[in-house]
Amino acid sequence: MTHELKTPISSISLASQMLNDESLAKSPAMMKHIGTAIQEESKRLKFLVDRVLQMSMFDKHDAIFKKKDLDLNELVENVANTFTLRVEHTGGKIMTEIGAVESAISVDETHFTNVIFNLIDNAIKYKKPDKAVNLWIKTWNDDDNVFFSVKDDGIGIKKENLKKIFEKFYRVHTGNRHDVKGFGLGLAYVKNVVNLHKGDIKVESDYGKGTKFTISLPFLKD
Ligand code: ADP
Repeated sequence: MTHELKTPISSISLASQMLNDESLAKSPAMMKHIGTAIQEESKRLKFLVDRVLQMSMFDKHDAIFKKKDLDLNELVENVANTFTLRVEHTGGKIMTEIGAVESAISVDETHFTNVIFNLIDNAIKYKKPDKAVNLWIKTWNDDDNVFFSVKDDGIGIKKENLKKIFEKFYRVHTGNRHDVKGFGLGLAYVKNVVNLHKGDIKVESDYGKGTKFTISLPFLKD
């Protein structure tokens, strides 16, 4: 955690020192480089601080949800549509099977949209390098619950790492995959939001084959 916060701070600090260093000749290209570094690192810092604030809100168990009656099928379809281009850009496809008949849920729209977004975002982020990624997105019911799952054919997660992925700041050690940005907070946040809505989240994964996350939530009965 401290490492994640310190890296962007030290980059910004270094960039500002360079700006103040009179012995350093500053060409327009160098100024541009420093400017971009400050901009990018501030963005990273903002993203991290936002996530930490979201998490601390849950830690205090005083999360304030503005619950609304919403349709899970619609939420899922809307979020999935925003990823179509990204998936097709890899050469892959999103297959959707929106089969839930009872799909009315009472959730906080912003947080629950983030949940669906984070799961689909991860499914694309952790694709096999230089390969297309395909996603299978489904909704369905049992007698009391509505389910949503997102399955990918990405890198997968080893069994020994599977139980740790919902922990705060945990990231699977991926060796050469430094290109994949993240802080290890997404799934901790997802699990908290789902649990605080009386729902459940499950993960199944085959290392080297792909991963499936399934969320269940009680649907609204009239
Ligand atoms: P982040 O993506 O910021 O690292 P998350 O909490 O969202 O953090 O995920 C934790 C870890 O779980 C990731 O670093 C990654 O190693 C692993 N992971 C999550 N989703 C997937 C997925 N769909 N396929 C493979 N690995 C995943």
